[in-house]
Amino acid sequence: MTTACIALGANLGDPQQQLRQALAALACTPGIVLRQTSRFYRSAALGPAGQPDYCNAVCVVDTSLSADALLTRLQAIENAAGRIRSERWGPRVLDLDLLWMDGVASDTPRLQLPHPQAHLRAFVLVPLADLLPNLEWPGHGRVAALAASIDRDGVVPLND
Ligand code: ATP
Ligand code: CA
Ligand code: CA
Repeated sequence: MTTACIALGANLGDPQQQLRQALAALACTPGIVLRQTSRFYRSAALGPAGQPDYCNAVCVVDTSLSADALLTRLQAIENAAGRIRSERWGPRVLDLDLLWMDGVASDTPRLQLPHPQAHLRAFVLVPLADLLPNLEWPGHGRVAALAASIDRDGVVPLND
């Protein structure tokens, strides 16, 4: 089994419900054991202006799947939630990004690992630091230090 981190986001429909359903879908996937889930956070959208806020979270899984197979599963869960791929960073019912997988690096268009933007995004670092503060982010230092040094004003915990 290999440990991996996944970022969850949604800003259309019922974002918290879609995140809960995605976590349930991950948890019942053969070859995936859901270990930990962060709190849910509200954050302002990146990308085109005028979008609703996001609900964001991060989870940690142990998996016997390859990184490629895990990404395929994440995309199937997005599609089942009704994800329609349109403009880059446009609003979506569900976004599942593979952030990190222990010992795995990839630099193809289909799969970049570690996720190249994760260490720059408060809406990823803040929930990730809930779960794995001591994780050494390849090339950038401990997650807790990265989360502490980023502007997190726009990332607000939700009561769920
Ligand atoms: P960003 O990756 O900057 O957060 P995004 O999530 O909006 O942007 P998408 O439209 O969801 O981007 O995905 C675009 C492509 O990114 C997908 O076709 C997927 O194959 C690819 N991709 C590359 N690396 C990853 C990764 N680590 N996790 C998820 N998708 C990835
Ligand atoms: Ca994303
Ligand atoms: Ca994505």
